[in-house]
Amino acid sequence: MRKGEVKQIELTGQNVLVMRDAQSALAAGATQVLVCERCIITPSACDFLRQNEIEIVIGGAAANGSSAAAASSRPSGTAQTSRSPANPKLFTTPEAEAVKKEICAVGRKLWHRSFVDGNGGNISYRIGPNEVLCSPTLVSKFDLTPEDICLVDLDGVQVAGTKPRTSEIFLHLEIYKAVPEAKACVHCHPPHATAYAITGRVPPNGIIPEFEVFVGKVAVSPYETPGTAAFAKTVLPYVRDHNTVLLSNHGIICWADTVTHAEWYAEVVDTYCHTLILASQLGVPISQISERQTSDLLAIKKTLGLPDSRFDPSTMKECQLSDMEDPSAIARLPCVRDGFRPASADNAEVDSLIKSVTDAVMRAINET
Ligand SMILES: [Zn+2]
Repeated sequence: MRKGEVKQIELTGQNVLVMRDAQSALAAGATQVLVCERCIITPSACDFLRQNEIEIVIGGAAANGSSAAAASSRPSGTAQTSRSPANPKLFTTPEAEAVKKEICAVGRKLWHRSFVDGNGGNISYRIGPNEVLCSPTLVSKFDLTPEDICLVDLDGVQVAGTKPRTSEIFLHLEIYKAVPEAKACVHCHPPHATAYAITGRVPPNGIIPEFEVFVGKVAVSPYETPGTAAFAKTVLPYVRDHNTVLLSNHGIICWADTVTHAEWYAEVVDTYCHTLILASQLGVPISQISERQTSDLLAIKKTLGLPDSRFDPSTMKECQLSDMEDPSAIARLPCVRDGFRPASADNAEVDSLIKSVTDAVMRAINET
């Protein structure tokens, strides 16, 4: 093939591109592989393509520039950026070494609190404009050591570290790209908050001061398969004014200025959910803080620089400061600003379904 000539191999029928596919593309003399937007490219295949200067083209639109291989594991629909290449030297600075230890300490806290199971959960820290330290895949958070930590760029391409990075890094990267204040993310599966996440409901507000100040409103993002580009993007409508998002049928993600603080928010939200679940078993209404008292807490929160959807006056009508209409209810549907509403949660729809089934049954009884 003449120099400069392009040979494209089409792999748009595959949802996953592995090392074997990358090797086949090289053997076929490809200079480009065309993949669908939802395609997941394994880190080893991604590295192999990059080393062999095979460009990844997503959804038919050519990724440009010399870092085209970085597009391989980028979430769908993300335009190629003009970011400068990641600096691998940031992997071994004194700050990086301290953060690696902090990530390990936080991993052990998550494990001890039963917030992670098996090799679940992941932790990351944005150490540079295009550099993120993160936990590896397939390692229990209890067993993490600083040597396990990886360095990736904002496209998810690993630039340092011996273990492969977590497959859920794209969720963290979407947050870093959307929220400049976010320096650290913790994703985990705490049982009580996850109990809410599997119902598509959020806990009510205006009950416990610490929760109002450090977390306050939590959002709910719709379900998508973990590790996919679509999954990573589910949080985007919410992360600018929520530091904690319930991931439907999955777990939670929290962002903060440090890894330690992101883990604190996970603790705060799970403890709050746990407390509400316990209180609901007492059989008496839960007392609420007044709207004025909640406003005072929000004023404190503002001075701490923490986000809250209630800071936006346009949402105040829709998302009340204290929103527990029924004092015995410990779970409510999120308002539009705070998340999606699962179809099954629409009471009017359920009522009409029950009515039509009842009518059909009654008609059948009357006809016999
Ligand atoms: Zn997870």
